[in-house]
Amino acid sequence: MARFREQIRASLRELEEAGLLRRPLGIEGPQGPEIQIDGRAVLCFCSNNYLGLADHPDLLAAADQREGYGAGASRLITGTMSAHQEAERALADFVSAPAAALFSNGYAANLGTIQALVREGDAVFSDALNHASLIDGCRLSRASIHVYRHRDMEDLESLLLTHRARADRALIVTDSLFSMDGVAAPLRDLAGLARSHDAGLLVDEAHALGVFGPDGSGLCAAAKVVPDVLIGTLGKAFGGAGAFLAATEEIVSLVQNRARSYVYSTAPPPSMARAALAALSLVRRASDARATLLRHAARLRTGLRDLGYEVPLGESQILPVMIGDNDRTMRLSARLLEQGVFVQGIRPPTVPRGTARLRLTPMATHRPDQIDQAIAAFARLAPSD
Ligand SMILES: *Cc1c(COP(=O)(O)O)cnc(C)c1O
Repeated sequence: MARFREQIRASLRELEEAGLLRRPLGIEGPQGPEIQIDGRAVLCFCSNNYLGLADHPDLLAAADQREGYGAGASRLITGTMSAHQEAERALADFVSAPAAALFSNGYAANLGTIQALVREGDAVFSDALNHASLIDGCRLSRASIHVYRHRDMEDLESLLLTHRARADRALIVTDSLFSMDGVAAPLRDLAGLARSHDAGLLVDEAHALGVFGPDGSGLCAAAKVVPDVLIGTLGKAFGGAGAFLAATEEIVSLVQNRARSYVYSTAPPPSMARAALAALSLVRRASDARATLLRHAARLRTGLRDLGYEVPLGESQILPVMIGDNDRTMRLSARLLEQGVFVQGIRPPTVPRGTARLRLTPMATHRPDQIDQAIAAFARLAPSD
C-alpha cells in the first residue's frame, strides 16, 4: 500500500512539473453571467450555459420532485418513467428524428452509442479533434479506428478508400461544432462521403444544439444534413444535465439493447427529464438570446483581435485565445480572475500539446458592459504575465 501511494504521488508530481495539474475552483451559488468564487463576485466567461438557462425559474419549477427523486433502476428494469418517455418524444421531434433515447450525460451517450453500433471487424473514421467521449466510444467498440486530419475531407476520403472495403460496417464520427476551437465540421461533405462509401454518420451536436439551426435545432438541421445518429447534450445550452441520441427506431432500439452505459446504469432522475422538457420549450423560443449570444461573441472576438490576441476568425460562441505554453495560460487565467473575470485555461490532453489556450465563451445573459469589462481585463494583461 505504501508503494502504491508513492506511485500515485509520483504521477501527481509529473503532472505538476508539466504544468498540467488541475485544481477546480469552487463556485458558490448558482451558475450565471456573474458567479461567486471565495465570496467574491466575478464575471463568468467559460461556461457552456450559453443561453443562461442553468438557473432559469422554468427549469427549477419543472425539476420539482413530484415524481420522486430517484429512478430506482436502469431503464430496462423499472427505470423508464413517463418523464423519460415524454422527453424522448419531444427531443426526437425537435431534431426531426423518428426516435430518441435519453442518457445521464453526453459522455455516457457517446461511449454507449458507438460501442453499441460498431464492433470488431468494423471501422470508425474519426476527426482528429473529436471530443474525448467520442474517442473513448470508438476505443470501447473494438472497431478499427482511422483518425483523419481535422476537417480534412481529402484525408478522410483516402482513409475510406484504403480501409472501408475490408470492414463490415463503417461509421464516420464527428463533433458538429468543435468544443475547443469553435469551428464547424463540413457536415454536407461528410454526409456526401458517408453516402458514397456506404458508411453511417454520427454527429455530436453538444455545443451547437440550442445555439445554431432553426429554433436552435443544431448545425445538421442548418445544413439540411440528416445524420444516421445525432447526439445532443442537455448540460450546455439546455442548462441542465443529460443527453440523448436521436435516430431511426431501429438504431435507437439497438442502442437501448447494447449500449452498456444505458443498460447497466440507473436511469437519470425524472426531474432531469422534466427540466429538459422545460428547457426545450425555452430553447425553441430563444432566437433573441441566440442573436445576443453571437453578437457578444463577435464583439469579444473583434475586441481581443484588436488588442493583438491570437483569436481565430469564426462565427461561433466559442473563442479560443491561443497562448501555447501551459504555465503561461494558467498565469493569464489567474491574472484575469484577479480582475474579476473568470476564463479557464485549457491544456493538454484536452487540446493538442503546444496549443494551450484560454477558452472564452460569453452567455446571452451577459450585459454589453460586461463584455466590455472582459475586453478591458485582457487589455490590462502585461506582455510579461
Ligand atoms: C461536453 C461534451 C460531451 C459530454 O457531454 P456531458 O453531458 O457534459 O457529459 C460530449 N461531446 C461533446 C462534443 C462535448 O462538448
